[in-house]
Amino acid sequence: MTINVIGGGLAGSEAAWQLAERGLPVTLWEMRPEKTTAAHESNHLAELVCSNSLGSYLHSSAGGLLKSELKQFNSLIVQCAEATKVPAGGALAVDRHRFAAMVSETLAKHPLVSIRRQECTEIPAEGVVIIATGPLSSEAMAGRLQQLTGESHLHFFDAAAPIVDGESVDYDKGFWAARYGKGTPDYFNCPMTKEEYECFYQALTQAQVAPLHEGVEDVKVFEGCMPIEEMAKRGLDTLRYGPLRPVGLRDAADQRPYAVLQLRKENYKGTLLNLVGFQTRLTWPEQRRVFRLIPALHQAEFQRYGVMHRNTFINSPRVLNAAFQFRRYPRIFAAGQLTGVEGYVESTASGLMAALQAARYVQGRPFLQFPETTLMGALASHVATPNKDYQPMAANFGLLPPLAERIRDKQKRKEAYSQRALEDLTKTHNLQEN
Ligand SMILES: Cc1cc2nc3c(=O)[nH]c(=O)nc-3n(C[C@H](O)[C@H](O)[C@H](O)COP(=O)(O)OP(=O)(O)OC[C@H]3O[C@@H](n4cnc5c(N)ncnc54)[C@H](O)[C@@H]3O)c2cc1C
Repeated sequence: MTINVIGGGLAGSEAAWQLAERGLPVTLWEMRPEKTTAAHESNHLAELVCSNSLGSYLHSSAGGLLKSELKQFNSLIVQCAEATKVPAGGALAVDRHRFAAMVSETLAKHPLVSIRRQECTEIPAEGVVIIATGPLSSEAMAGRLQQLTGESHLHFFDAAAPIVDGESVDYDKGFWAARYGKGTPDYFNCPMTKEEYECFYQALTQAQVAPLHEGVEDVKVFEGCMPIEEMAKRGLDTLRYGPLRPVGLRDAADQRPYAVLQLRKENYKGTLLNLVGFQTRLTWPEQRRVFRLIPALHQAEFQRYGVMHRNTFINSPRVLNAAFQFRRYPRIFAAGQLTGVEGYVESTASGLMAALQAARYVQGRPFLQFPETTLMGALASHVATPNKDYQPMAANFGLLPPLAERIRDKQKRKEAYSQRALEDLTKTHNLQEN
């Protein structure tokens, strides 16, 4: 029986390809051009809605590792990206039109893939289904997902603050403390002098903002979680009475700083740090430029940029298992950004994993176990691990268990993470395929 994959974005296209390559017939539903989203502009499958970069391609980066992992499974998205790449230093950036056209043509030519250009408004009543309708899922499908998950609300506006790699913070330019000394000193405080603050303020208020792609009413929803650059425009000192307030904080010289950004641990290990109160709509390059003006962040590496756009995602830990399968409805799987992974390649990875697991479900074989040392395994675990404040997550080394031996050199440590992941994935893959 044909497997229905709903949504021909990055996750859905990869899922359809993986299933078809395993000899399973697929119907891939894509509502464009009949109906479009606020961000898509073309009729192609796998359209990149914003940046043309699929992130780092370096072996020693999390983005590079995830791509290497996907290549072990003959990923269509990675193959097409490599075939249409444009020069971009260490990143895998593509000619977006050629890339999406190549994905579309490859799937259209596959004898086992049938592309249905129509909005899917009901979850097919029979057979295996993979829902991959993305962060801008149509209203009808969002409604079906609400019924499926029992959640009354699935539309979120990401007003997320950026997250930086803990190892890229300059700890000599700040101090650990809790405000008023209350509780344990779990915040890393990044102080600014008057001059530093004013320079930051100027850059922030003049920086380029990303388009919202949503109506005016939607902006109102966000009065309660205002972007930092909007707040700054209310006056030079507004931030010093808001997210950058220095009250209750004393530096090593027992002085109260002029302004302070607090960094909060994003994960238990403290390898990821959140810029508290810095939800933003600045474009990603501008976030990098402006937030690096804060002395402790002058070399910060961003693991997740601040975003503000509609982002429909399900509370996956409540409803999915690590095979991206609905626990209550075993014939239905979910994939892509909808499941709470964040980014083009992460969405592709979840589409790939959901398809491999769905194929095994159809064939009556046990699910694949992706090693926890791999980014694919870590993302699968992210969607299935209970979390009372579930938020979308991009691939990063902070998700992986520590290495058996501590390696001081950062570059070598990252390479060791990558090497371990690829070795473990190869071993497990070979083992499970036999
Ligand atoms: C405005 C915006 C900017 C972003 N910028 C970036 C960025 O620069 N870099 C990055 O890595 N990530 C970015 N993201 C995140 C990005 O959306 C995801 O990384 C990725 O596109 C998600 O892949 P997906 O397959 O889950 O969803 P999508 O790629 O969005 O694919 C979902 C597909 O489903 C279709 N669809 C929806 N509902 C239905 C239905 N009922 N029936 C049939 N088809 C349907 C849609 O038309 C779409 O083609 C951005 C997201 C948004 C919303």
